[in-house]
Amino acid sequence: MSGVVVRFAPSPTGLIHIGNARTALLNALYARQSGGTFILRLDDTDRARSEERFAEAIKQDLAWLGIPPDKIETQSSRLGRYEAALEKLRGMDRVYACYETEEELERKRRRQLGRGLPPVYDRAALNMSEEDRAKYESEGRKPYWRFKLDHRVVKWNDTVRGEIAIDTASLSDPVVCRANGTWLYSLASVVDDIDMQVTHVIRGEDHITNTAAQIDMFAALGANAPTFAHHNLLTLPGGEGLSKRFGSLSIQSLREAGHEALAVAAVAVLTGTSLAVEAVENLAVLAEKIDFKKISHGPARFDPADLDALTAKTLHAASYASVAERLKALDVGGGEKFWLAVRGNLARLSDAKEWWEVVSSPLASKTEASDRDFCKLAETLLPAEPWSEKVWDEWLAAIKPAANRKGRELFHPLRIALTARENGPELRALLPLIGRRRTSARLKGETA
Ligand code: GLU
Repeated sequence: MSGVVVRFAPSPTGLIHIGNARTALLNALYARQSGGTFILRLDDTDRARSEERFAEAIKQDLAWLGIPPDKIETQSSRLGRYEAALEKLRGMDRVYACYETEEELERKRRRQLGRGLPPVYDRAALNMSEEDRAKYESEGRKPYWRFKLDHRVVKWNDTVRGEIAIDTASLSDPVVCRANGTWLYSLASVVDDIDMQVTHVIRGEDHITNTAAQIDMFAALGANAPTFAHHNLLTLPGGEGLSKRFGSLSIQSLREAGHEALAVAAVAVLTGTSLAVEAVENLAVLAEKIDFKKISHGPARFDPADLDALTAKTLHAASYASVAERLKALDVGGGEKFWLAVRGNLARLSDAKEWWEVVSSPLASKTEASDRDFCKLAETLLPAEPWSEKVWDEWLAAIKPAANRKGRELFHPLRIALTARENGPELRALLPLIGRRRTSARLKGETA
């Protein structure tokens, strides 16, 4: 194990979508590439909205994508650590109590906007007198806590975006703990990253401003900040965020729609980079492609329809070993020979079932009347068993001179007789799988 520690930190308040999978994969594959540790950290401090079923769904989705975490942590089990951090910051005057209600804050914001000012919290609570405080307390108000930003220009060298500089004077002091005692993400996350010795924070660029405040929190707590990498966000072709199509783009629904996990992973990781979005053989190949410098600074636009093509391409290149278990679960036999014969014709893995039925179950004849004699003639020319790989070539060499047909006239009736379908895998590969007995009966127009 190297010293690299990364984390994927979703809130278990819903299903994760392909955009979240981008973050998860970049973290997990970076850890894999560097021999590091990949933590799933469930940001579940919002007890009202966090649900166990979503936490389970996230674990299942990560396992399906092939990136089960090395460790699982939950914020809900670490509340004492956040309390201790708040206490420490209180001792250093780096947090302050506030009493404004949401409506009062909203009014302030509107006033600022009306005057053309940025809606930044004015630190009124910081200058509150003891009397004001006593008055609020006597009204039964409980304080919530804000972290006091050290107004300065925070700079970091972002692994994706290069040098970033943010003046924290332009930000509101972040609320870290609500009046009802629930913890907000920003401080809790910093405490976790320190305790869990996270070395790299890889997350969406929507967190860039949080990072400036969090770097200040790391410093206040006497810790070194990790390395930050903010990746662009996946968006739909029109530029909309994924929430619009959330349902159909959740990992769960992509799985249920029969997409290949590797195809979803390739789209999630390679979109919005300078690399081609293409099928990969396995996650190790995808991991090798990851280079944070190749992630674009613009949005990562993708068309969900591309997933179909990539799922098909992934299947067309999949080794038998990589799908053997799943074929078994579908009751598809035939081993590697069957797989290699049909994989190039699949849009979904489940399509293999249809072709397995074609080679192994009785098929009603669809041969046209005008082709019946030709098929009967071809039947008389079937090579004797045992059949080798070359049986198709041997058979054709015998049919061609005897039937005086070529091209479509020759192949189409054979395909219809053997498979009852207009298109499909090469007959050369299917013939030995169908076997002589069935082939012979199908050519004679029997259901076999
Ligand atoms: N819970 C945060 C989110 O889902 C985590 C952000 C982070 O990685 O620090 O956006």
